[in-house]
Amino acid sequence: MIISVASGKGGTGKTLVATSLALSLEDNVQLLDCDVEEPNAHIFLKPAIDRCEPVTIPVPQVDEGKCNFCGKCAEVCAFNAIAVLPQKVLVFPELCHGCGACSYLCPQDAIEEAGREIGVVEAGRSGNIDFVHGRLNVGEAMAPPLIRAVKRLVDTQKTVIIDVPPGTSCPVVEAVEGSDFCILVTEPTPFGLNDLTLAVEVVRKMGIGCGVVINRDQAGDKSTEEYCDAQGIPVLLRIPLDTAIARLYSVGVPLVEGMPQWQPAFHSLFEDIQQTMMTQSTGEKSE
Ligand code: SF4
Ligand code: SF4
Repeated sequence: MIISVASGKGGTGKTLVATSLALSLEDNVQLLDCDVEEPNAHIFLKPAIDRCEPVTIPVPQVDEGKCNFCGKCAEVCAFNAIAVLPQKVLVFPELCHGCGACSYLCPQDAIEEAGREIGVVEAGRSGNIDFVHGRLNVGEAMAPPLIRAVKRLVDTQKTVIIDVPPGTSCPVVEAVEGSDFCILVTEPTPFGLNDLTLAVEVVRKMGIGCGVVINRDQAGDKSTEEYCDAQGIPVLLRIPLDTAIARLYSVGVPLVEGMPQWQPAFHSLFEDIQQTMMTQSTGEKSE
């Protein structure tokens, strides 16, 4: 089973949830940190990394001896990564998505591809947890290929927890794709609700069931619960606004390690997810 842990925006506590959930499951667990621009699950799990692989994307290299400057490569590139001048072809590697269209369509066979490193995938172990994360090079914009490289290491024999990048853009879709369920972590504020609404739209469009964890919960604003009720989305767990929890987070201590009394809640979270998946799939069949 693959469970992704996402949030409409950064700083809502998805890594807190992902790491504590992984630590609460006895074994046969794999955690993939796909938040490749700012991976931080390793700060909490402190894995012993034993593998490191560079990840490259193929970018074009033009042989101007063969090129007739016809401009077809620039026409076909959807990302403006090639410009053709009367006597020169300019390639902008940082804009190239490595799709290969330009080399495939070049009538002069003037384009070769060379690997450009965008980051690394590191893997190792933290106690009973198989750990994998990606680290995108500083200033690099091509997160999706690195996320794909991290996800190639998914072990389907295990319960897989994916820490998803924040937001609702391409890297999020890439990380959540293929999940059996998505936990959406939010906080009970108007901004939190706005971002949650967008995240729910994305996972629903992807056909993936979801449930909500409310972090920094406090008495007062009930709009998140009302929204979840109206949408038929279960609120699976509430983590209160508590300076002791914030202090643990700030020094890189997982919640269930610093406050072991939270272990049963994360166990129940996992059971509730299984139950919700059954209910949601039964509901879909009967529609
Ligand atoms: S498509 Fe090929 S021949 Fe045409 S400009 Fe691009 S590299 Fe040159
Ligand atoms: S490989 Fe794709 S993205 Fe890169 S320059 Fe060629 S057409 Fe553009």
